[in-house]
Amino acid sequence: MDKGILIVVSAPSGCGKGTILGEVLKDEKFYYSVSATTRSPRPGETDGVNYHFLGKEQFEELISKDGMLEYASYCGNYYGTPRDKVLEKINEGKNVILEIEVQGAMQIKKKCPEAVFVFIAPPSVSELRNRLVNRGTETAEVIEQRVSEAAQEIQHAYEYDYVVVNDDLQQAISDFKAVVRAEEIKTVNQKNIIDEVLKNA
Ligand code: 5GP
Repeated sequence: MDKGILIVVSAPSGCGKGTILGEVLKDEKFYYSVSATTRSPRPGETDGVNYHFLGKEQFEELISKDGMLEYASYCGNYYGTPRDKVLEKINEGKNVILEIEVQGAMQIKKKCPEAVFVFIAPPSVSELRNRLVNRGTETAEVIEQRVSEAAQEIQHAYEYDYVVVNDDLQQAISDFKAVVRAEEIKTVNQKNIIDEVLKNA
């Protein structure tokens, strides 16, 4: 069986990343890697579904046992990708999605150069601000903080292979799927098929 693809996705908050990935993940070929974190669960979040919520010591023990494919400290908490599950799913042929921030993505780039890196961007910073204002869940001050964080994160987009702009949602979903399809049919990922075609030559 062919191995699956490792897909690393980063996006500033308010870019609609959750909506795009939710749509993509309806296809059973994809597996969403559940990260570990030391931050507290938010209302509505479930342990083992949104994150594996760990204590700082548990998290550090996993790091020391080389149990993390990558990890980063972000806003005062650890976030990391448990290694074993990712490797298991890739070997089963699933396309594994890591939804992680930039520092972690750059660690994966060093360890797994064959992974594909996708940055999801808003059409403009002012549109991002509008979306956050319309969402109505944050104060004006927090919105400005998010907007300036987003502007900094977007500068890292050049380190990714693809940039999916979420202007029109359906277009963004179809662009994301197109990226994955292009990866699937890359020559390096088609070795089994080429061998099969040549078998009776
Ligand atoms: P939040 O606390 O809002 O759920 O996530 C904060 C940031 O941490 C987001 O940018 C999210 O993509 C990132 N993140 C989530 N899981 C991981 C992980 O396993 N590793 C890294 N490096 N970042 C993560």
